[in-house]
Amino acid sequence: MNTTFIAMAVAILLGIGLLIGIGALSLLSGALNFLFVKPKIEILKSQYGENGFAFSFVWDQTAEPVSFDRLKIQLFNPFGNPVQMEITREFEPSGKDFARDLDLGHKMKDLIEAKGLDSATIEIEVASSRESVTHHISMKGNSFKEKFNNATLSATETNEKFAVPKEITRFEIPERTFISPPLPKTGKALKIATNPEFAAIFAGAAGGDVSGGAAAAANYSVSKVWIEPGCIVCDACEGIFPEVFEVTDTTCLIRPGAPLNDGLRIQEAAEACPVEVIKFTKVG
Ligand code: SF4
Repeated sequence: MNTTFIAMAVAILLGIGLLIGIGALSLLSGALNFLFVKPKIEILKSQYGENGFAFSFVWDQTAEPVSFDRLKIQLFNPFGNPVQMEITREFEPSGKDFARDLDLGHKMKDLIEAKGLDSATIEIEVASSRESVTHHISMKGNSFKEKFNNATLSATETNEKFAVPKEITRFEIPERTFISPPLPKTGKALKIATNPEFAAIFAGAAGGDVSGGAAAAANYSVSKVWIEPGCIVCDACEGIFPEVFEVTDTTCLIRPGAPLNDGLRIQEAAEACPVEVIKFTKVG
């Protein structure tokens, strides 16, 4: 009787000890995970210079099996100018450690040249828009500038380190020859102000002297101008007619109340658009 009681007591004590041990191990593993496997964003060297931002992102893909596809850089600059900035850009999603080099246009240069940047705060955020997961780091502007200017490793080199498979290059093999046929002669010339062939027309539209040149094209009004999907945010249209076109981080917009009485300039912007997404209808 006495022996049975002692054996039961020992078994109970061993069971309790085992439970405590498992709990302690689980806490230790959680702490190690938090300390050493937490997501890491590193600034890399961009091939786009001051207009670009390259970074790498490393995280625990087993604990967080999601795909990241969006970058946001925010500037909080209460004592400088501009006071606040936000640059957002989507990129090719990745479910494994990755590096990306993004052309952010003039906005990145504006951020680097912000007055009072040294004492501002920069927040870099990497997010998964599908799974609504976000990770970010914050740093002082001077630290950001130092990392940005002194980065040496490129996104390509970092991806090689991560062993991202290279894109397979595909070559089209012509049926009979390796010499490509000459481009068909369409005789179509691009009707833009910088083309000397149309200089007189645009000079005439702007009220210049066209005597001796080709007849000036009469200007006209448009009833509607819009942007179809596919804008590659190249800024060309805003450069030609900033009163009508506003290029944002992701697309191009028509400004509210935009003047629609200079059809020739709208047409020039449409013809300069490399992906032909600017559409308009003439009045009448
Ligand atoms: S020119 Fe075309 S592609 Fe470029 S920003 Fe304007 S709409 Fe977009």
